[in-house]
Amino acid sequence: MRAMLLREPRIPLELTHLPDPRPGPGQVLVAVHACGVCRTDLHVVDGELPHARSPVIPGHEIVGTVAETGAGVSTLKAGDRIGIPWLGSTCGACRYCRADRENLCDAAQFTGYTIDGGYADLAVADARYCFLLPQGVGDIEIAPWLCAGLIGYRALRMAGEASRIGLYGFGAAAHIVAQLARHQGREVAAFTRPGDVAAQGFARDLGAAWAGGSDEPAPFELDAALLFAPVGALVPTALRAVVKGGTVVCAGIHMSDVPQFPYALLWGERRIVSVANLTRRDAVDFFAAAAEARVRTHVTSYPLAQANDALDALRGGRLTGAAVLTPR
Ligand SMILES: [Zn+2]
Ligand SMILES: [Zn+2]
Repeated sequence: MRAMLLREPRIPLELTHLPDPRPGPGQVLVAVHACGVCRTDLHVVDGELPHARSPVIPGHEIVGTVAETGAGVSTLKAGDRIGIPWLGSTCGACRYCRADRENLCDAAQFTGYTIDGGYADLAVADARYCFLLPQGVGDIEIAPWLCAGLIGYRALRMAGEASRIGLYGFGAAAHIVAQLARHQGREVAAFTRPGDVAAQGFARDLGAAWAGGSDEPAPFELDAALLFAPVGALVPTALRAVVKGGTVVCAGIHMSDVPQFPYALLWGERRIVSVANLTRRDAVDFFAAAAEARVRTHVTSYPLAQANDALDALRGGRLTGAAVLTPR
């Protein structure tokens, strides 16, 4: 198979021909039709996350069809269209797994990070962590649901009943969350990189009541702020924008250091929380919510061999919505 391999961090991915993987017990072999490009992939490529496998095939927003099932797989069969997300497997035994918090598992494996992912023609995955995908949304369009959508949904849930939501960083996740939030009757303010008028127009097209730069004051008091940009300086910025009792949700896996800020910004029962990974339950809930809200993704597709170009576009803020690789 062809794969875009990260031989070691901080160098470009390399188009490589590798032996086709075989599904082990409990695994499925999947022909990859689409694989979304997530900001986490950038953090893996840039060596900003510890414990990454090396070399590794990145990619954890995988859409494909089951080509073959390994021994003992009864829930999926050849030909099924499935999604493979970031959560590759969990131990099932640690305190978090036993408390229905498998997203926090001490021994979890993560697709495209500690196990090989979907920047390839083929991928193998633990069948228990794959999802049958709903009909009616194409392979390329649904790929960003597998992480941007799932993590965005989990972040939105952390905001509770907040009716006025600020989204900081208007990329793949925020453009899905904006649609969900609007469908739920919430008001959305979108904060982009200063001067990114294209992203601001895109946010307004998706129903944001206001869109502007993250250096601008919020147009109204926020009940919650969701941070998708990996910029720690936005934490005090967002705290300033939320009401008493408001929540600032940090949705990324990696963020630059949060600068020192006066306690008065946190006072008033404001909260700062992070979102880590996903549970399989999140996927069930999100797919239902996204279908009901008729979420549509805006994607730019790239051939597999141009994965480095897709990553560069994401790094440079030149994407509207999400980038998706199309191995087939
Ligand atoms: Zn566990
Ligand atoms: Zn991701």
